[in-house]
Amino acid sequence: MTNKDYQSAKKSLGQHFLRDHNAIQRITHAIPKGANVIEIGPGPGAITESLLERVNSLAVIEMDDRFAAHWQGVAEQNNKLSVIHGDVMQDLDAAVTSVQPEWIAGNLPYNLSGPLTAMLASYNLSGGMVLMYQREVAERIAAGPGSKTYGGLSVLVRHFYDVKRLLTLPPGAFSPPPKVHSAVILLTPHGNTPACAYWQLQKTVRQGFAHRRKTIANNFRGSITAEQFESIDIDPRKRPEQLGYEHWGKITNQLLG
Ligand code: SAM
Repeated sequence: MTNKDYQSAKKSLGQHFLRDHNAIQRITHAIPKGANVIEIGPGPGAITESLLERVNSLAVIEMDDRFAAHWQGVAEQNNKLSVIHGDVMQDLDAAVTSVQPEWIAGNLPYNLSGPLTAMLASYNLSGGMVLMYQREVAERIAAGPGSKTYGGLSVLVRHFYDVKRLLTLPPGAFSPPPKVHSAVILLTPHGNTPACAYWQLQKTVRQGFAHRRKTIANNFRGSITAEQFESIDIDPRKRPEQLGYEHWGKITNQLLG
């Protein structure tokens, strides 16, 4: 890729390209050699090139015409690589079904963080995920119960995964530099049986965190009584951010009757 590509970064596609060699190494080395991987948003390829050297197969999903065309050219010469030219929000489900990746990686477009993470957390991968976010979003995802930043995404990612912060990066690690710091999180499968179906958990969490300052009795008024909360060993006076994954699983099952 040329300097021109970096200079013409599209804000609308959240393009901040990673330039920090050490970070590229840390991200790619979190994925074992020989894995089958999907990368979201390869852009000019900071992570992609390093991944291609390690993996058995790599499918990239890229919306930007310039980068998709570039990687299609590379794929003609390298049969490890396949390219999906499209919108990750539309095409990821089909890609996961056909590629059956062990790992997903990406320096994610900031504007998609929430909905994309909710989608990613629904996939039960055998390897895991290495994902870069704005630091504030990474903190929300990695937060545990009791923390002010703990929320719906923190619960959802724990359905299948343990969460670890891998590294934090200053704006200068990117070109063009974003306004905020970034952070990379590592999701690895915990292997426990999930408490309920993912899409049902998603509904529960949406309702339960609708009013963070209210008690869960209030957030679930009309759906779960105080006695029913007590029958599943949950204090109805608690606030949503005080409940761990297991509690959310129990509430989901209670809602199902
Ligand atoms: N991986 C590169 C890196 O680390 O330098 C680029 C990361 S940049 C933050 C995000 C990338 O996602 C860009 O290449 C952008 O074009 C792509 N992108 C943005 N929105 C997308 C979407 N809806 N579907 C697929 N790719 C998208």
